[in-house]
Amino acid sequence: MNPEKETQQQDFPQYLCKMCGRCCKSITTEHTYEELQEMTINGSEAARVFIDLFKQYSSIEEARKHVPDQVDQVLNELGQQEGFDINKVTFYYCPYLSEDNRCGIYENRPECCKRAPNNPWSCMPPGCGFEGWQFEQREKIKKEVRKLKEYLIAAEAAAEDGIVPGKDISIDDLRKIVAQKISPWKKYGAELW
Ligand code: SF4
Ligand code: SF4
Repeated sequence: MNPEKETQQQDFPQYLCKMCGRCCKSITTEHTYEELQEMTINGSEAARVFIDLFKQYSSIEEARKHVPDQVDQVLNELGQQEGFDINKVTFYYCPYLSEDNRCGIYENRPECCKRAPNNPWSCMPPGCGFEGWQFEQREKIKKEVRKLKEYLIAAEAAAEDGIVPGKDISIDDLRKIVAQKISPWKKYGAELW
């Protein structure tokens, strides 16, 4: 997205945005348009906002004319996922992006825009100003996951009668807690970190 540089937030480095506008022109979602419509009928506010705001490109080729590098990058990434079906991929653009890549509804832009890229693994366009930041965030998370795993291994080695010494907790419960903490990162390969 293209947040204005002057509105830096302490917890999110918006100033990193180069205002190239490509992320506002190459939006995708894991859901098909029909699924989004159904989700909207079933009360999903996020799906409603998405449908209301973004417009579909008529085809992938049409999207490629506007954001070729990002379309290829997204397709390449999706292509590595099991069950990938290119016929289910739709690219969208935002009609509120101005010609100089400013957000036309900046003060009222939806939450998904305020947070973008809200995930260190979000597929941002090549050369996006957040590339380095995303890399740092990924490394931080990997380090935390490794620390948790090391802590568990040490606790397993030290456990006596199934209890973690010095803690009022069983080693089985500790395994569950660690697994739960790691679970959000599983889809990004946390089991191998
Ligand atoms: S792709 Fe990155 S640098 Fe370009 S507008 Fe979006 S967030 Fe900013
Ligand atoms: S609402 Fe603004 S920030 Fe969000 S996609 Fe549209 S132009 Fe980009």
